[in-house]
Amino acid sequence: MRSLRILAAAGALAIAPVLRAQVTAVKAGKLFDAEAGVMRADQVILIKGGRIAAVGANLAIPKDAKVIDLSKMTVLPGLLDMHTHLIGPANDPEPLNELRRTMAEEAYVSIPNAKTVLLAGFTTVRDVGTYRALIDVAMRDAIARGDFPGPRMYVVGAYITITGGAGAMTGVSPDVTLPWDMSYGVANSPWEVRERVRRLAGQNVDYIKVLSSGAVLTHNSNANAREFTDEELAAAVDEAHNFGLKVASHAHNAAGIKAAVKAGVASIEHGSYLDEEGIQLMKQHGTYLVPTLETTDCIHSDPNEPPEFLEHSHRLDSLSIENFKRAVREGVKIAFGTDISVCPFGTNAKEFPLMVKYGMTPVAALQAATVGAADLLGHADLVGSIKPGKYADIIAVSGDPIANITVMEDVKFVMKEGVVYKEP
Ligand SMILES: [Zn+2]
Repeated sequence: MRSLRILAAAGALAIAPVLRAQVTAVKAGKLFDAEAGVMRADQVILIKGGRIAAVGANLAIPKDAKVIDLSKMTVLPGLLDMHTHLIGPANDPEPLNELRRTMAEEAYVSIPNAKTVLLAGFTTVRDVGTYRALIDVAMRDAIARGDFPGPRMYVVGAYITITGGAGAMTGVSPDVTLPWDMSYGVANSPWEVRERVRRLAGQNVDYIKVLSSGAVLTHNSNANAREFTDEELAAAVDEAHNFGLKVASHAHNAAGIKAAVKAGVASIEHGSYLDEEGIQLMKQHGTYLVPTLETTDCIHSDPNEPPEFLEHSHRLDSLSIENFKRAVREGVKIAFGTDISVCPFGTNAKEFPLMVKYGMTPVAALQAATVGAADLLGHADLVGSIKPGKYADIIAVSGDPIANITVMEDVKFVMKEGVVYKEP
């Protein structure tokens, strides 16, 4: 332990003078000020040690700085997607295929997903569940070590779900005994819920995910059924808070939404059957809605989609859009989330035009993927805007996304923590 500390100190001494000299200056033709919700012209961003050092119109650029010229582009903070599933193969909507792969295959097949999502401009994700527990934790750490490129991940470790619930491996014969990691988060009482939260906290997860209603993409599930009792949801939130963790709840069914909001979750995922009472409760509690609008088209256009899932989806498609519109009109806080894996990895920004089509302004949609998402994540001090002290997560697009939000689907430049991953 002591020798490690000395090594670290020596390393820091050796590196410090170099880091001090390494300033990168980004010239931004337009820069989206996410907090103020406005574009600012001709800005300079100075970056040091992976963080934003300064930003402004008339900053002096040090002589030895590396200059990145984005003066013909619109620069924005790195985007945040609050609902991803990076674990698992691209284009495989059948959960039962999990049983055909080893845990190692599942992990390796996921590596390209991380890079694809990063290059689409998403420098931070909240990854809200994997059928094989804890691969997300390993992936987060591998990306942080620099083993392969990907967004900064905040992970949940496993779904906390009832037996046969929305996050369970369902559709399997009772003859089959599932491996431990396919049932890691199954819980059926307040104390079991607490035990699962404790397990996950002990595995260093960043967030807790519960499922308080049935799901569309789960066998034998009814999205309009409630899952978990008030006591179980209260136990999840209370225990999570003991570890300083926030809770996200998957919920379509109106009663499942309201129960989770009353229990104190930070966000409702999907929210398809959200009713007026639910909207008022979300406003009172400051609960975010993470709408995942882009999934509908992808579910219906995927030739491999299990017919059962198509039928589930048909029941709530138009309803979820109407309820989203109402939530926007009435001022529910919205955070950007895609459920990516349902749609191809890297198409996350297709969510933006749908948010705008159904009632949000382009500025509000951009804020949902920057400052709003950072607030929901609980890390507004680190990500979500280009401000001194925050990570140097910076992207750029051609054109003005406030005039035409679809330009977000073609991100030309990506920097994460001061490292450039994509250039025009
Ligand atoms: Zn999801």
